Amino acid sequence: MDELNFSKFIFRCLKLRARVFMSSDDCYNGKSKFIFITGGVLSGLGKGVAAASIGALLSRLRVIPVKCDGYLNVDPGTMNPIEHGEVFVLDDGGEVDMDFGHYERFLNISGKSEWSLTMGKVFSTLIERERQGVYAGTTIQFIPHVADVIKDHLFKVASKENADIMLVEIGGTVGDLENEFYIEAARQLSHIVGPDNCIFAHLTYVPIPNGVREQKSKPTQMSVRDLNERGIYPDIIIGRCSEALTPKIKEKIALYGNIPSKNVISGLDMKSVYEIPLSFQEEGILDIIFKKLKIAGAGSPKMDEWKRLVEICRKNYEDPRKTLNVALCGKYTQLEDSYASIREAINHVSAHLNIAYNLKILDTEFPSKPEDMDILEHIKSELADVDAVIVPGGFGSRGMEGKISVIQVAREMKIPFLGICYGMQLAVVEYARHKCGMPLANTAEVESDGIEVKEPIIAFLPGLEYVKVLGGTLRKGGYDVFLKKGSLVEKIYNGASVIRERFRHRYEVNPLYISKIEEHGLVFSGYSAKEDNIMQMMEIPDHPFFVGCQFHPELTSTLLKPSPLFYNLLKAGEKRYDERC
Ligand code: GLN
Repeated sequence: MDELNFSKFIFRCLKLRARVFMSSDDCYNGKSKFIFITGGVLSGLGKGVAAASIGALLSRLRVIPVKCDGYLNVDPGTMNPIEHGEVFVLDDGGEVDMDFGHYERFLNISGKSEWSLTMGKVFSTLIERERQGVYAGTTIQFIPHVADVIKDHLFKVASKENADIMLVEIGGTVGDLENEFYIEAARQLSHIVGPDNCIFAHLTYVPIPNGVREQKSKPTQMSVRDLNERGIYPDIIIGRCSEALTPKIKEKIALYGNIPSKNVISGLDMKSVYEIPLSFQEEGILDIIFKKLKIAGAGSPKMDEWKRLVEICRKNYEDPRKTLNVALCGKYTQLEDSYASIREAINHVSAHLNIAYNLKILDTEFPSKPEDMDILEHIKSELADVDAVIVPGGFGSRGMEGKISVIQVAREMKIPFLGICYGMQLAVVEYARHKCGMPLANTAEVESDGIEVKEPIIAFLPGLEYVKVLGGTLRKGGYDVFLKKGSLVEKIYNGASVIRERFRHRYEVNPLYISKIEEHGLVFSGYSAKEDNIMQMMEIPDHPFFVGCQFHPELTSTLLKPSPLFYNLLKAGEKRYDERC
């Protein structure tokens, strides 16, 4: 390095160092208040829903949710949904934890990638800074440097978003090694911003063991103690329980948690997650937050319509008017959370249509099919009492032929059908095989599993052909979809000519086959005008409801505004139910 370049290098290092070593106090905008949500005892208690419910109640303020995950993946995009639940896709293309689904649905916001923090991202930032010479001369340590990266990030987002409230959910349970740095960063941050600007809510579990039939506080006491050891004293304790917490147990938890008993909140098991904000509101959580954070005049949110819809759901759980059978046919069937947003989208519609539903999960490898039975016959019997069929997104060849057979049966038996992403691609393959005289039609995707594809009806998206690494190479995020005039989907979307939906795919309908397929009756009714005319929706006329979409409509469905595609699928399903029953 010559002298000039060397001094430039030193200058750049000093500049970067000055930025990084600026004390965190300087980064705090002095305005945003922080609500940290931690979890204790066990995972899966619904921290995401609890955080989102608190956010929903504060929706008159500018609330920015942030999720801190302990895993080392940079984002969950490369994880199998069976591992960690569905991958949620944001409008900006970010692949994030499924809790963002709750945040968006409850807070009525569109999330951003930056609001998701993973240890993968934290360490990437740290190592990048180290390589740039930012820390030249210092030993980089877990404390302070890892905690600093986390605090800096939270302060940066708070300022950038001009947040009134930063709602920070820390993944896992207190005591997990992988989340320790988030907890320590939260502690330090609370010290910097001061007690009026920070509140800790801790979600724990209150079991009622068989035999004693009494709510037990010991696991909560222990997990609060775990937090205390880390210098954090929760202001609110939410006790998840199958029954409302009794005054007695609230007193006990309050005593050992060092808080007033009114700050112990029942986290009652609910049939519908949309009841939780209402239940927290009844428990007085807003007053506690407003008082601690000295927020005046924010008022309660308007929840009338929300309440009305929740009431319909509740009635339908107890005494359903009609119970539709909806089949969800895929391969990630072991974990309920793999299709979390699809389940929610159905919940939203069921409130608006005032119906109940029974979700029949069909594994498209059909492990229970008798060996001597034809696959189509087997599927016909499985779908005989089904009112609507959904083939969701997916990847690879496993279970894929089964999906194609399901689609064939839904088309031929005129069962309302919605194909999402891979579901739409396979609906086009099915149509090409059985209606367009192309028995060898297939998706090029299965070639990587060693299957020869002679008629690649579905092919690599232009520009992605040579991408070999998986992480971050899909076409992701929100894109415009232009709707064909006079199509069913145009009607469904209230006559709109352009809609915006969220995508996550690597393949598309091969442009070389579009006209041949259309000649045989299939209608491509949604397309991207800008990018080489990617087909984004399809429909089949002369069918009660047969629609495919390359995007994921489930990601933008909310209780107040359900996805029009799910709405119309179930509306057609209701008609089938009426004919069937
Ligand atoms: N595997 C298909 C693709 O990559 C569909 C993806 C999906 O269903 N999300 O295009």
